[in-house]
Amino acid sequence: MRMMRIQDSWFTVTQIDEGTFAISEYGHWEKVHSYLLLGKDKAVLIDTGLGIDNIKRITDQLTDLPIVVLTTHVHWDHIGSHGEYKEIYVHAEEEDWLINGIKKLSIEQIRKDVARDITIPVPSTFNPETYTPFTGKPTGTLQDGDEINIGNRNVVIYHTPGHSPGHISIFDESRGYLFTGDLLYDETPVYAFFPTTDPVALVQSLKKLTSMPNVTKIYGGHNTIGLEPGILTEVKSAVEYLENRNLVRHGTGIHRFEQFCVQF
Ligand SMILES: [Zn+2]
Ligand SMILES: [Zn+2]
Repeated sequence: MRMMRIQDSWFTVTQIDEGTFAISEYGHWEKVHSYLLLGKDKAVLIDTGLGIDNIKRITDQLTDLPIVVLTTHVHWDHIGSHGEYKEIYVHAEEEDWLINGIKKLSIEQIRKDVARDITIPVPSTFNPETYTPFTGKPTGTLQDGDEINIGNRNVVIYHTPGHSPGHISIFDESRGYLFTGDLLYDETPVYAFFPTTDPVALVQSLKKLTSMPNVTKIYGGHNTIGLEPGILTEVKSAVEYLENRNLVRHGTGIHRFEQFCVQF
């Protein structure tokens, strides 16, 4: 494999295989990842990062193919550079959030979160006092079971609500990669404690992941890039534990398991 190397001031590119890249923002406490999947005819970009810097500078260096942006969910830390791309898709249940913003989320809180605990220099274009999450009309909406063929590569959309109502997970059939956004990652808690979250739906979505065949690797929206599918076994027993103890509801706090934890 010919490794692609990109020296960049803000983003870190990790090449997963010949046609798959993680684009990470390690300078920010959230450690957000976006993922670029190259097909024969098109490329898929899963999320566009924090919006502190312009992720298109990176995708331009990685491919000349037309890019289709798939939004795991409409939280500000995953739609930062959406405005840089022509073709953007979102699950139907979050189309309104993308167009009008999330009314229940205060801009003051977002500006606090985007600006804190940054460990590397930010570009001069970034101003936390005026930072505003992307809003705009998507090219189209997604539903559970939709498939997108980018040429020799097929990705399948799974509606996995809970962390947010229109959250999706994306399965790359060609390689068995499962992109889980903010539904499943390791280290820090998966959030389902604020008003727009739904713990019961989150648990159903986690169960949906555990029943998926042929998963070779899991790529979440934060923290470690590439988890072994064994984490799904852990998730399976974790949700049983939570259900048996009636913990699947708001206010029950952080529940820690081996590799993953969840906050209700
Ligand atoms: Zn989120
Ligand atoms: Zn996130």
